[in-house]
Amino acid sequence: MNISFSLSKQRPRLTVLILALILGSPFLRQSDAQLPTGWKAHDLDRVPPQVVTPGPSNLPLAAPSDAIVLFDGTSLDLWRSENNSPAKWIIQDGVMESVPGSGYIFTAKSFGDVQLHVEWAAPAKVEGNGQGRGNSGVFLQGLFEVQVLDSFENTTYADGQAGSIYGQFPPLVNASRKPGEWQAYDIVFRKPTFGDDGKLLNPARMTVLHNGVLIQDGVRPLGPTSWLQHHPYTKGEELRPLSFQDHGNPVRYRNIWLRELAADSIQAPEKPYDPVIVEIPADQQAKIVGKFVRDSGGIWEIVSKEGKLYLSLSGVPLELVPHSQEEFGLKYTAGKLTLNYDSTGNASAIQFFMGGETMHASRAP
Ligand code: MG
Repeated sequence: MNISFSLSKQRPRLTVLILALILGSPFLRQSDAQLPTGWKAHDLDRVPPQVVTPGPSNLPLAAPSDAIVLFDGTSLDLWRSENNSPAKWIIQDGVMESVPGSGYIFTAKSFGDVQLHVEWAAPAKVEGNGQGRGNSGVFLQGLFEVQVLDSFENTTYADGQAGSIYGQFPPLVNASRKPGEWQAYDIVFRKPTFGDDGKLLNPARMTVLHNGVLIQDGVRPLGPTSWLQHHPYTKGEELRPLSFQDHGNPVRYRNIWLRELAADSIQAPEKPYDPVIVEIPADQQAKIVGKFVRDSGGIWEIVSKEGKLYLSLSGVPLELVPHSQEEFGLKYTAGKLTLNYDSTGNASAIQFFMGGETMHASRAP
């Protein structure tokens, strides 16, 4: 398994000590941040998210019919260690727990765009503080971390709180439950897309609810999660395993499921837009414009403005997209307008199709 971006081996332990030392140092507060957010990672001037108390728990949340259940409390068969050997986390009472020092775990299957549901609990016995308390993480595609941390009355830098896109985006609010209580992340993840030349077309996009509260609203990670560094996007495998972090704390997980999502229609249009567009010259437009009387009463008018034709419908000008001399689409709505011409070449009648209805109008005398 090639997890080229994972910094798992570089993270815990000794480095925690180094981080603690340099976080106190003023050089991290310089205003010459180079990232698009304007912030350097872990800037202590970043305002901590406000505390919001979530509503009563509705957990465990049952998986919908089209979900892939990755962990139902019985086995780790769908999970692997980094070297592809069986996952070394333990299962106890239907719950899996990270074993300090055992390493990250990865799904055997790879994924792209997903809706992911994860339930987790920080250790009930509070030990450590800051990043050392109940630290784990959910890595979408093994690259983009939604931080898992006991953020209940636990001070740390804003972009390292529970629900942060680690080192990049603090959660909108802190919706943490108490240590030991079950919490949920519901994550919508859109993978980054790349051109054939390897150039980034669309960064990843992440929306996260923490205990039912919106904490990440379609944020676009600046690159894969990294620590003390900034790694740009690099084209790699389209589909990658989901991974969970061992950060040296016994964090528990249960009821993990996801739904694979079809490609995002914003990033990958499903249909070509108005494939045939023809030019209607000004002298031809002059033969089309004018008033038409509807069979069912009322007047429609076709007008020409700045070289384009519009059908004026109850005062609303609808731009007509010419597919031929006779057939026009509407710019924003699935509709069609066809024209009949008389022997002198002037438009004499209109048929207008929209929403399953056909309407007629004839040239006003
Ligand atoms: Mg973490």
